Parts: sequence; structure tokens; C-alpha cells
Amino acid sequence: MSVTRVVVLALVVVLAAGCGGEPSPASKGETAAAKAPAAVDAARLTAANAEGGNWMSYGRTYDEQRFSPLKQITADNVSQLGLAWHYDLDTAHRAQESTPLVIDGVMYVTGAWSKVFALDARTGKELWRYDPQVPGEWGVHACCDVVNRGVAAWNGKLYLGTLDGRLIALDAATGKPVWTVQTTDPSQPYTITAAPRVVKGKVLIGNGGAEMGVRGYFSAYDADTGKLAWRFYTVPGDPSKPFEAPILEKAAKTWKGQWWKYGGGGTVWDAMAYDPKLDLLYIGTGNGSPWNAAIRSPGGGDNLFLSSIIALRPDTGEYVWHYQTTPGESWDFTATQHLILADIAIDGRPRQVIMQAPKNGFFYVLDRATGELISAKNYAVVNWATGIDMKTGRPIENPASRYGTTGKPWISMPGPGGAHNWQPMAFSPLTGLVYLPVTDIAFPYFPDTHFVVNHQGFNVGADFAKGALPEDPKAVAQILATMKGHLAAWNPATQTEAWRVEFPLPWNGGVLATAGNLVFQGTAMGDFVAYRADSGAKLWSTQTQTGVLAPPMSYDVDGEQYVALEVGWGGAFGLAAGQLARDTHIKGNTPRVLVYKLNGQDKLPPPETPAALPLNPPPETATAAVAEEGKVLYSRSCGTCHGDSAVSGGVITDLRYSVALGNDQLFQSIVHDGAYKAKGMAPFASDFGPAEIEKIRAYIIHRAHQQLAIDAAAAKH
Ligand code: CA
Repeated sequence: MSVTRVVVLALVVVLAAGCGGEPSPASKGETAAAKAPAAVDAARLTAANAEGGNWMSYGRTYDEQRFSPLKQITADNVSQLGLAWHYDLDTAHRAQESTPLVIDGVMYVTGAWSKVFALDARTGKELWRYDPQVPGEWGVHACCDVVNRGVAAWNGKLYLGTLDGRLIALDAATGKPVWTVQTTDPSQPYTITAAPRVVKGKVLIGNGGAEMGVRGYFSAYDADTGKLAWRFYTVPGDPSKPFEAPILEKAAKTWKGQWWKYGGGGTVWDAMAYDPKLDLLYIGTGNGSPWNAAIRSPGGGDNLFLSSIIALRPDTGEYVWHYQTTPGESWDFTATQHLILADIAIDGRPRQVIMQAPKNGFFYVLDRATGELISAKNYAVVNWATGIDMKTGRPIENPASRYGTTGKPWISMPGPGGAHNWQPMAFSPLTGLVYLPVTDIAFPYFPDTHFVVNHQGFNVGADFAKGALPEDPKAVAQILATMKGHLAAWNPATQTEAWRVEFPLPWNGGVLATAGNLVFQGTAMGDFVAYRADSGAKLWSTQTQTGVLAPPMSYDVDGEQYVALEVGWGGAFGLAAGQLARDTHIKGNTPRVLVYKLNGQDKLPPPETPAALPLNPPPETATAAVAEEGKVLYSRSCGTCHGDSAVSGGVITDLRYSVALGNDQLFQSIVHDGAYKAKGMAPFASDFGPAEIEKIRAYIIHRAHQQLAIDAAAAKH
């Protein structure tokens, strides 16, 4: 049997009552354009909910609800929504994951390779653009595409985290850098893809890299000067050296072996939220590095603070409380997913909650003052645990799921793509529902019995060659048929699903909820859809020509409401899932910002039709055994970008069609020496010698000939 390789009534937002003085609402006689660019301060951000027309921070408000109070566009008139303007992003045809900020009539949006664009929010006219010139070869350190999720704004500046670990303050008027700091050790494979946040004059940023072998941490920098204010490490370092914080000495007791040599992981690569009244900053931490707990911490242990929600003091980075979703994490079950703060009634009692639907498939509702677990329930199909023990707060694991300990493969629901990944959910205080993009994909974890640490690419302790897709296309089709996705409306008070919309495809976009009784979401097939927030009834849909991952947002300028969406497909699934990704998204990948309003009259140009490449591999001269050795190397180091089993998901080069396949010297110059590093293909000389690279070439040639046979058989019918 083939294995399936497949890869959160609010009464009132507490923030509005929070600290920090009076809001500074856009005064009625003043036009947006008269304000200084990005004139955002503590008072405005704390009272952001009162400024319905602006979207001044990644999740709109510090509670990260992604709920727009605008209601010009409603369930009754959304059928008249039309394109207002579009803007072509100059970024390469890669995943686009940004949430645009719109502040006083100006949109600030980012794209792949950490590029920033300032646009007139009424017309889409470009005001300026900024390219931080991320070296192409840094892309190899990005587990999940060369993406960026947006900027933060504060006192006339914008803050950008770059893929290669820099934090850059830009003058919001001109896009010119004001200061730059390197937040990471450039000799380590760290990346930044998250949007920073600004709290009390400090810019907050984490990083990624827990697939590659790094130690997670989270930093605060002075917004004016770029000086480091504090840093919180999420996992302990070498215990023979002083611990950076007292809490890490306690955390170290939950680890075994020599984890620090592997990095340990726990990277804070996306979610943050802030409660001004409690003065607590919340972060989510990532998976262990490597994934395989038996390698990382032999003999077990919870491995704090992997896969945890942590509350910190924003002034000092002091630890307050944590909740660990997945003790002894071994499956890439990050808890970096979207964190939402809300006040909801549970069992007739008002509760201040923090909510998360992390990758592991359970929806958690915690008391955000204390970290107390209020409830947890699976929101997707889960087989690695049967539930959460409410006495201990721990998952009730299926022992067979610990592939590193059993030494046997484990086919898991969910897998490393998560039942919910980074794509933001949304909470409507009007319906009391969380709108959650869910994926239902299984994944086979095989223990890596020959674990070696590579300089380039993944180091996870799971054998991707053994877990690779079957070569029989019929078997792949069977796996494809099991893959699904859905949009769930989840009631966090009762931990029940109010409604769902099923999709045939798994890897879809983030979500926006609005006061117009609407929920907006884009899909892998390029559809941008509006649903009734209370019932899930589909009300409106348009075709964007490109697969969608990014979440929509809404703003108004001069009394007109707009809904904006970035399109561009790729990401972890788009790159790594090979044939499964190739067949599960719309062809064509034109990165754009699309903005809609009632009776918008703009039109997109005709869709791109990607040219079909000839499949013309050189003769197969290597033995099957050599090609098989090449498969192991390919699966370890190449497949996470170029696709499982040498089939591209359609985002970047399909190596079977590469002209370099028939030119061994060109192939060596690219793979060994980095001839295409500016284009994003890093050199692999640190991991592979020429003989090993030749084996990889033999494997790809073998796969190209298999495709030729499939094409020939199809041509006969
Ligand atoms: Ca991960």
C-alpha cells in the first residue's frame, strides 16, 4: 500500500479600554493625505479598533483578530464587488504572503525576497519601492519559500525583517533606510519571514530555521535607534555555559543529550499578540531541531519551550507563563500559528482568552492572564493523539506516533504542513466565531537511521527518500484523492464547528472577517470568495488568475471601503509536495496586489499561459543502484524546494526539464559551484562532491525518462 506523502462575542475589545491615552481618530475634516506618512503611535495602535478605515498592524489590532469593523460592503451588496485596481509585484513568481498595512490612505505591502512597495491606497499608484537585495543563495535556508508577511509602522518609520536576518527601519515617506541591524548570526541558517510588531516603542522580531539546525530566540529593538533592548531564548543552550535567563535553567531539565549541538529549534517565526491592559506580549514557538526527538533529546523530555505559547513582559522580555501544546515535539508541530485575543463568554462566565489552532490539529483556548488551559479539541482529523488530558493539559499520545523511538514509520494526520499552517484565521466579535483555514493531509515519517548534519537545506531526522511519493502515477492519484482542505467556522466557546466549506484542494489562503457579515478567503485555484459570516453561504466569487495564500484585509479611504488581497502561490506545500502540488493549484503564478470595491471597473490583462517545456533528457546511462543513491541525496537536500521525487510543484524549476540535465559540466557548475546563486540556487559544495552530484543527476534523468513513458502512454489514448 502506498504511503501518503503529503505533506481561532467578544464583548468589547479589551484593547479599546487599554492603557495609553486617547485615540487619535481621523478627524472628519482632514483628508488622509494631509497626515504625515505612517504617523502611528502607542495611542493609535492601542485604540486601533476605533479606526475602522486603517489597518495599522499585521493583524489590524494588537489582539490580532483580523476583523474589520467596516460595513459598507455587506452580505446584501457584496455581489456588486469589482476590481478597483491591481498592481503587479516585481518579485519573482514565488509565494506572496503579505498583509498590506493601510495608514491614512497609503498602502505598505511586501513581497517575495523581502521587497517593500508603498502605493496610493485609492489608485494603486506606486509611491516608492525598496529592495533590500537579499542574496539569492540565502533562499536555501528558507524552509518554506522566500516569503515575507509584511511591515510594522511606528512614528513615520516602517520596519522590515529580511530573509537574511536583517531588521531595517525605513523612512515611510521615501522608503530610504534609516537604520539596519543584523538580528542573527550570519554564519547560521536563520531567516526572517514574519511581519515585525511594535509595542511601547520596541520593534519585536523572531526568526526561522528550525528545519536547518538553529536555536530559537525572540528580540526587541528600540524603534528609534535599532539598539537591542532584550532577547528571549526559547530553548536552553549548552548548560556548561551561563543561562541567559533563570527560566532557561528550569527548561534545561526537560532536555537530554547534547541538544545544543543541533540547535534545538523553537524558533519564533510568525505569531505574536499583545494585551495592553495585562501588559503581556504573547509569542508562539516552533518545532524541535531536528524534528526527530530521539535524535535531538535521546531518552525523552518535554523539551521546553518547543511548540509553546509564551507570555512575556514587553519592557524586559521577562518570562510570565507558558503552555506547551506538544511536549517532546517530533513532527514539526509548531505553535507559531496565529494567536488571537478575545473576550468571550464560556459557560456563562466572561473569560479573557488567547486562542490558537497550531499545526498539531487541536484548537486551544487559554486564559491569557494566567495561561490556564480552558479547553482543547481537535478541529481536524488527528491520529497522533486521542485528545488532551484536561487534568495535565497534555496530549494523550498514540505511542506508535513516536517514529524516532519505535524505529518504525508513522503515517500521521496531520503532518508537518499542519492541519493549520501560517495562513491567518480571523475572529468576528459579531458572530463569536473563528474562521479557520484547515488542511487534511497525511504524511509518512520514517526515522532517519543515517542522520548527518548538512550545511545546506533540511536536517530533520526523518527520511524523506523512504517517505517519497510512489513512482506509479495511479498510486499518486489515489493519494491526491485523499487530500482536502476546508474553511471552518469554529465556535471557541463550545469547541464546536458552526459550519464548513469543503475544498477539493488543501493549500488555500488566510481569512478576513468583516462587520458586513462577511468572511473573505482566496483559494489555491485562484478563486477569491465572500461567504456569509453567520452561515457560510457563498455570496460572491471572482477569479484572480493565481493561487492565493495571503489573507485579505479591508480599509477605507474618503468614505469608500476596499478589500485587498495579495496573490502568488508557493510556500512549503507548493515547493516540496511535488506532483501533489503540481496538480492542486491554478497554472500561472502572477504576483499581484488586487483591490476590490463596490462597482469597481478595473480589469486584469489576459492570464499568463506558461510555455510548455520540452522534456528531452539525455540517455539513461547510470545503473538503477546509482540512481537510487541519487534519490537519497536528492530527497535529503533538493526535494524540499524542487519537489518530492524530482517533480516540481510548478513554482520553481522542474529539474527533469532542465537543459543542464544533459550537460554534466553545467550541472556541476550550478549545483557544486553556485553558477545560478543570484537566481536563488545556492552552491552545495559544502555537502556534496562531484561524484555525489553526478548521482543526483542520474536520479533526475531516471525520473525524466519515467515521465517520458507516462507522456507516451497518454498520447496513445
Ligand atoms: Ca518547521
